[in-house]
Amino acid sequence: MLEQPRRIKRGWMNLRVSQVIHETLDTRTFYFVDHEDGGRAFDYRPGQYLTFRFDELGPKPIARSYTMSSSPCESDYVAVTIKEMHKGVVSQFFVQDVKIGDVLRARGPIGKFCYFSGQDQEHLAMIAAGSGVTPFTSMLREYAPHLGEEGAPKRMTLLVSYRSTDDLINWDLLQEVSKVPGIRIVTTLSRQDARDLGFLYKRIDADMLRSVFSEDLSKTTFMTCGPQEMMDLSANFLKEQGVPPQCIKIESYETA
Ligand SMILES: Cc1cc2nc3c(=O)[nH]c(=O)nc-3n(C[C@H](O)[C@H](O)[C@H](O)COP(=O)(O)OP(=O)(O)OC[C@H]3O[C@@H](n4cnc5c(N)ncnc54)[C@H](O)[C@@H]3O)c2cc1C
Repeated sequence: MLEQPRRIKRGWMNLRVSQVIHETLDTRTFYFVDHEDGGRAFDYRPGQYLTFRFDELGPKPIARSYTMSSSPCESDYVAVTIKEMHKGVVSQFFVQDVKIGDVLRARGPIGKFCYFSGQDQEHLAMIAAGSGVTPFTSMLREYAPHLGEEGAPKRMTLLVSYRSTDDLINWDLLQEVSKVPGIRIVTTLSRQDARDLGFLYKRIDADMLRSVFSEDLSKTTFMTCGPQEMMDLSANFLKEQGVPPQCIKIESYETA
């Protein structure tokens, strides 16, 4: 575990869909294997993404990026979790049309939105909303069994916001890792009051950040992924608390 990526294919790869999991009404997880040899096509770090290319969905080729929600410790496949956006060309195609056996073109792994034990702090705090949970799903899968070991954080906290209990992406994994000592998962729902089930009930705001991250923050690296407004709010709050810029990492889904 926690090895550096080794087997990296260059250029566009042919990935075959080997499984499709219904996460929620509008979100699916797609498992991929190498079309040629049936194994995992490449190595990667948790937090990295693939860029898929479609030549026939529009008049010009279209490319969209999706972060691995699987972890490098899963050696037989890679997976991405995709939420269908209203009238979104590629996400709608994925969720409505892509099926087991289809072969898609993708390039990667790409990105540096990762935990680097040499430079990052021992406590990894993750702040996410909706499909922005996917890089953190990968990190939790990878690091939860190895907290405190070389290459992994000592502790992990995830604050994640979903709309309702119908929108709980990657929920089985989150519940499973929440039992691991050193891992804390806090889930808030923005449009459903389910406080009796243990959820918070409002959008992520400064008060929530203050109460979830109430400890000394000097040994914490923060990573945030989700709507721009939530990431800006989180970054501003953390800067006000004196968290240095190198301990605040942001992944925008609106670029690249
Ligand atoms: C590094 C990275 C990682 C990502 N990882 C993930 C991930 O793990 N999971 C995930 O679900 N997503 C992820 N994304 C987002 C993903 O790449 C796509 O942006 C997303 O799926 C939407 O693409 P689309 O083709 O479906 O929508 P688009 O067709 O690009 O449309 C996007 C939205 O804009 C609206 N829109 C489009 N054109 C117009 C217009 N002319 N006027 C008004 N509105 C318009 C659409 O209705 C839609 O709601 C990631 C993005 C990046 C950059």
